[in-house]
Amino acid sequence: MIRTYQYRLYPTNAQARALDFLLWQGRNVYNAALEQRIAVYQETGKGITYPQQWGHFRDLRRASPDTLGVLNATSMQQTLRRLDKAFKAFFRRLKAGETPGFPRFKGRYRFNSLEYRYGDGCKLRFDETGRALFYVQNVGEVKVKYHRPLPDDAVIKHVILKRRNRKWYVCLQLELPDPVVNEHPGPMVGIDMGVYHLLALSNDAKIENPRWLRASLANLRVAQRRLSRRQKGSHRRRKAAEQVARLHERIAHQRRDFWHKLTRHLVDTYALIALEDLTLKFMIANPHLALSTHDAGLGEFQQLLAYKAESAGTQVVTVNPAYTSQVCSGCGRVVEKALSVRVHCCPDCDLTLDRDVNAARNVWLVAVESARTGPSGVNVAGCGVRSLRSFPL
Ligand SMILES: [Zn+2]
Repeated sequence: MIRTYQYRLYPTNAQARALDFLLWQGRNVYNAALEQRIAVYQETGKGITYPQQWGHFRDLRRASPDTLGVLNATSMQQTLRRLDKAFKAFFRRLKAGETPGFPRFKGRYRFNSLEYRYGDGCKLRFDETGRALFYVQNVGEVKVKYHRPLPDDAVIKHVILKRRNRKWYVCLQLELPDPVVNEHPGPMVGIDMGVYHLLALSNDAKIENPRWLRASLANLRVAQRRLSRRQKGSHRRRKAAEQVARLHERIAHQRRDFWHKLTRHLVDTYALIALEDLTLKFMIANPHLALSTHDAGLGEFQQLLAYKAESAGTQVVTVNPAYTSQVCSGCGRVVEKALSVRVHCCPDCDLTLDRDVNAARNVWLVAVESARTGPSGVNVAGCGVRSLRSFPL
């Protein structure tokens, strides 16, 4: 099992300058390597491979100890590999008939991370008082906010040093033994990811967007308006842009924190969680719209749920969302209603309940049905079985 733990770094001013310098040199390598690829192709009509590039830059690194030389050798390889990956992805998409963008030169604010192999130019250490320090080659030992301990059996493999909004972070990629999962004693639940309610559960519970999110989004809109009024290329615009970025980051953190707590609660409570397939859901809702930020947030929810479920012994299944909001979860009759109609009211069986809860119950029904018949293309209108009226929740 692979997990990533992220910690905030608190470099001194001198260390921050050294870290910025490292990134600058990393960016120089990336851009020079891109330039080399273009030049070689123009001269010879052939591409240049990663090993050839590494040979070239290894020599450059040795010849210039004050600039490229400050980079750790393995870290430099990782930067060259990143470019190699960008090219491979470009050609793969070209071959597939898509119109990918050519790999771009990285501007000053577009190159923000360096990768390391753990133990090679970087290391986590604890001083006599138990304070955590992160050593980076040619930077020194940087203070770490060690907000949660690494698991005892973790092996650190890969490290990413990251700068985001002028703050520094270290991401440690860990290898952990697969968890021993016990059978989950909890009940099953279906969840509807709605527009009106954030989530509706088949047991009538509804989870709303937290209020702080609305407040933060209002602040963001003000900051964005300020940004758009400032003159392009000006110092004041740069500052306004930084503020917008900080607000975005704050909202992302708040939302992530909220998702973390919510998904923890869900996997601790339920043995099986049925969700709609998000991509299908929004294709059905509006085939012309890309996922909005709202939906992207739901994607993050699904991702966190899946990874927490893995070690909690909870099963997460996705179902085809077709008709889930229209069909009656009591009798199976299709009750068509516009999005503005919030209550499901069935003329056949008199079932009256919140439309999102009705949808969540249908999600649950489809999950039960597809567990019985195999998952191929079952949706609620086709499943036909209506005997499951009581919910063991
Ligand atoms: Zn009904």
